Amino acid sequence: MAEGRLAVCPGSYDPVTNGHLDIIGRTANVFDSVVVGVVGQAIRKQAALFTPEERKAFLVEATADLPNVRIEVFTNLLVEFARAEGAIAIVKGLRAISDFEYEFEMNQLNRRLAPEIESVYVIASPDYSFLSSTGVREMATFGGDVSDLVPAPVAAALAERLKRA
Ligand code: ADP
Repeated sequence: MAEGRLAVCPGSYDPVTNGHLDIIGRTANVFDSVVVGVVGQAIRKQAALFTPEERKAFLVEATADLPNVRIEVFTNLLVEFARAEGAIAIVKGLRAISDFEYEFEMNQLNRRLAPEIESVYVIASPDYSFLSSTGVREMATFGGDVSDLVPAPVAAALAERLKRA
């Protein structure tokens, strides 16, 4: 099925936050369809809290109201995944200058590998510009209330997972 002008929103989503959902929703407003790409293999040294399938399931539930969004796990190079999906753009959220520096470098690399895929940057909403998955995990580890930062099933799973840890 043709999905029109398609964008990929990549990330670890460990776990998905309301900040991610804001970027996904806004991307879905301006593209015909959006594929949220969940990074299946951790590049970062820190071990993931949730498995790629768990992270995908949270995203599927949280985007159920967005008919032009689907979720996929990918384990290959981002530009190869985006190309295979037929994407015309990779969309990233930018929170702060610190995000910019990393994204600037990635942009140059991805541009060399896939010049036909444009990278597009969406500025975080002020409400979420402080919000990261790492911060949420840390808060939850110390019993902080994250219920207004993540979807309800994620908050419940965090409490459950970190209680057992
Ligand atoms: P994190 O940095 O929270 O671990 P990911 O690696 O899952 O996030 O990031 C996926 C994408 O979402 C990235 O483009 C990242 O910059 C963006 N993003 C993450 N949190 C926010 C937020 N609160 N507002 C806007 N964009 C965000």
